[in-house]
This record gives sequence, structure tokens and C-alpha cells, in this order.
Amino acid sequence: MNRLLLTHTVSRSAADELREALAEALPAVTVEHPRTEDAFRESLRDAEAVVSARFPEELLDDAPELEWVQALSAGVDSYPRDALAERDVALTTLSGVHSEPVAEQVVGYLLAFERGLLTGMHQQHRTVWERYSGGELMKKTLGIVGLGAIGTRVTELADAFEMNLLGVKRDPSTNHGVVDECFGPDGLAEVCERSDYLLLACPLTDETRGLVGREELRLLGEDGVLVNVARGEVVDQDALVSALQYHVVGGAALDVFATEPLPADSPLWDLSNVILTPHMAGSSPKYMERAATIVAANYRTLYENGGTKAHLR
Ligand code: NAD
Repeated sequence: MNRLLLTHTVSRSAADELREALAEALPAVTVEHPRTEDAFRESLRDAEAVVSARFPEELLDDAPELEWVQALSAGVDSYPRDALAERDVALTTLSGVHSEPVAEQVVGYLLAFERGLLTGMHQQHRTVWERYSGGELMKKTLGIVGLGAIGTRVTELADAFEMNLLGVKRDPSTNHGVVDECFGPDGLAEVCERSDYLLLACPLTDETRGLVGREELRLLGEDGVLVNVARGEVVDQDALVSALQYHVVGGAALDVFATEPLPADSPLWDLSNVILTPHMAGSSPKYMERAATIVAANYRTLYENGGTKAHLR
């Protein structure tokens, strides 16, 4: 197998970048990029491997030979995971590709809140010179839900500020020293209560949907800040708006929202204790280069090194 089929929904510039990066890593592999849905569906008929920006379930009916779908994203909550598994089609993600830019952005959010940069920017827009005091991240407590690629990279950066790190993992016995204290899902309330900052870096699953609601925000408290780079639905959006409006929680840095783009009438736009970015934390000029490394490693596992689907990342 020496052909990778890109979905037509991948932009031409992204496809060119990926093709260029893959040409070095997998010189014998052809990367096919049909421009229309009809052309893509035609190519899908004999495709074994698809690199995909989006893969709706109905495409499976057109893909009798399909063995592997490589998503061009870290989160695959929008993919038909059960249907793919039923057909024994492996689904791999770009987990890890975003960890550096997202982790750097998380540190940016923490510093912006800690040093009062929002206040400075609001004053700047109003031509106001009024000195105020900033805090220090040094030795503050950071709770992290989801210690995967992003969560782990954040712990490394947070070490520079000697932060006290609390983690929430499905299996806390596998902490391996990444955080100072590790809790299972039933420890979330304690982590909220003890954290100055609570970072959500977990995937959206049935378990994590609505994980942070009214009670968790109350426990995080008026001095606490929620940072969500995971998915909007991990947080109860109504509870969040209300907690921010009534200063039940100190603030929020949000890159992801239950509805994206964030509707123009969302109260979040106007709250002075919110930093809001348009789901761009994972962006980086090095994105496709890193993506190609992961795609190539998966390809080699499956087609060159005698690996099986179970060996894919
Ligand atoms: P990852 O797969 O490396 O890590 C996710 C971690 O969350 C894993 O360790 C997993 O075991 C853990 N997890 C799963 N369910 C959990 C639960 N119920 N409680 C606690 N931990 C749980 O993924 P990643 O690259 O670190 O990305 C994490 C998520 O961040 C992605 O799934 C995606 O939704 C989101 N993301 C957002 C952006 C962005 O631009 N804002 C970019 C990349 C990823």
C-alpha cells in the first residue's frame, strides 16, 4: 500500500504542506487530494488509508477496502468511532501535534490573569494610566484534568514557576510523577477547591461532557480561574456564564465553546473577567511538519514494520 487519500475538505494549502512534509518522510507514498466530494467518493472505493479533516459515517458505505483513517486533529469526538470500530477500521489522531502551542497559550492565559494584563489592556483602550498590582504564578496551584500530550507539556512549563500541580486522571495510579498529586475522577471536587487555576485538557467523551458545572465552579471560587482548551461541552456553558457574571468564579480563559463560532449574542463577549480566543490555541507554523511525522510513523507501523492496527498511536 503506497497511497494516502486526503479528504476533499482539507484545504489546498494544507494539502500541499502535508504532501511536501510527507515527501521527505515517505518518499514512496503518493498523496492523492481530490478537490470535489464526487471525486473523493470515487477515489474512496479502492482506498485503504484516508487522511481526513472530517469523516461522516455515510462515507463508510463507499469504502469497502478501508483499513485506516488518520484524523487531522487531536480530538476525534466528531468521528463515527463506533461505526469505524465495527468495520475494523483503525482511527488515529494527531494527539501530541498541538501540545507545544496549546501549552504555551495556557501559560499565556495564566500570566495574563496573574499579572492583570486584562486590566492593563482595558485601561489602554480607554487611555487610562492607573497603576495596579500584579500577582505571581510562583508556587500557585494548578489543577489539570487530562494529563495527555497537552496536560503533560503544561506541567513541564509550569515547573518553571514551581507551581503546585494537581492532576485528574481516569487511572491516578499511572501518574508517574507528572503532577505532585494525582486524583481519580471522584477527586475533581477537591482539585477544584484547592486550585488557583483549573485547566481542562481532556477529550470530549460521555464521561467528560458537562464535567464542570455549577458546583465545580463554586468550589473553584471567586479567586479561581477556569482555563478551557479542551472542548466547550466539557463545561456547562450556562453555569459558566452565570458564575462569571456573579463572580462566583474569578475568571475564565476560553479557547473552545459549545457553539462555534461563538454566537454574537453570547454574554461571554462582554465579560471583563474573560479571555476569549477563537479555537486557535493549537495553531502553529510547525503544525503540518509535526502532523507529517505522526502520519508517517503510523503508516510505517501499519505497512512497513509488520505492525498491526493495535500498534497505531
Ligand atoms: P491526549 O489524547 O494526548 O490526552 C487526553 C488525556 O485526557 C488522556 O491522557 C486521557 O486519558 C485523558 N482523559 C480522558 N478522559 C478523561 C477523564 N474523564 N478524566 C480525566 N482525564 C481524561 O490529547 P491532547 O493532545 O492532550 O488533547 C486533549 C484535548 O484537547 C483533545 O481531545 C481536544 O479535544 C483538545 N484540543 C484542543 C485544541 C485547541 O486548539 N484548543 C488543540 C488540540 C486539542
